[in-house]
Amino acid sequence: MDKVNILGVNVDMVTIDEAADKILTFFDEDKLHSVFTPNSEIIMAAYRDRDFAEILNSSDLLTADGIGVVYASKMLGKPISERAAGYDIACKVLDKIKDTDHKLFLFGGKPGVSEIAKEKLEEKYKGIKIVGTRNGYFKEDEEAGIVDEINKSGADIVFVCLGAPKQEKWIAKHKDELKPRVAMGIGGSLDVFAGTALRAPDFYCKHGLEWFYRLKKEPWRIGRMMDLPKFAVTVMLHGRKYKQN
Ligand code: UDP
Repeated sequence: MDKVNILGVNVDMVTIDEAADKILTFFDEDKLHSVFTPNSEIIMAAYRDRDFAEILNSSDLLTADGIGVVYASKMLGKPISERAAGYDIACKVLDKIKDTDHKLFLFGGKPGVSEIAKEKLEEKYKGIKIVGTRNGYFKEDEEAGIVDEINKSGADIVFVCLGAPKQEKWIAKHKDELKPRVAMGIGGSLDVFAGTALRAPDFYCKHGLEWFYRLKKEPWRIGRMMDLPKFAVTVMLHGRKYKQN
């Protein structure tokens, strides 16, 4: 797969469909594959924290979840054709595995959210096998128990929805212990599946304005969102220093 190096983060140049198809191939290999979907805030975090950049680069699939990342790829002369958001990829994967034996575990969100998400997903993707849920609030000494719960459930794929960078760090930390073959770090997706958070209407998504919709709904994100203009400027000033493959 072709990649574009954005400030030291190697992003796969894939569409939503290609990403979902790639994930399906991961089930055939007996090891955990991690899938991360960074937006510009997360790439900025990785730019500041090289250990985090290494975690992102160690993944098996890294897609551009955000219009800022897509624009950055264009600026660097290796254009990604569309935004491949974690939520959209997850929907495609659900559709593809619903008629198979692949089993899913939902991990993350406030207490109760993953259970509601399970119910909603079972309604929407008839045939899907969801074998466990766990909220995303825990102490460090509970982590081994969570890994055990996921492993004992027999899940082949786990959605880890703890927000970034917590979910990526959690997956990387437990990569060798986790038995599923796929772990996707997909932020607030369980809230969207459960209906406790709404996705931006199509108009905002089509015009690359999802960030604006979120800011209207969750104004406390303003601090984090200041990374968006910083990201654009950093890519303009330093983006070309990173070697493209
Ligand atoms: N969350 C969690 N554990 C934590 C912190 C957050 O499970 O310790 C959940 C939170 O309930 C929400 C999701 O992680 O469902 C973060 O969503 P957000 O949209 O903020 O994700 P991001 O934009 O960081 O990917």
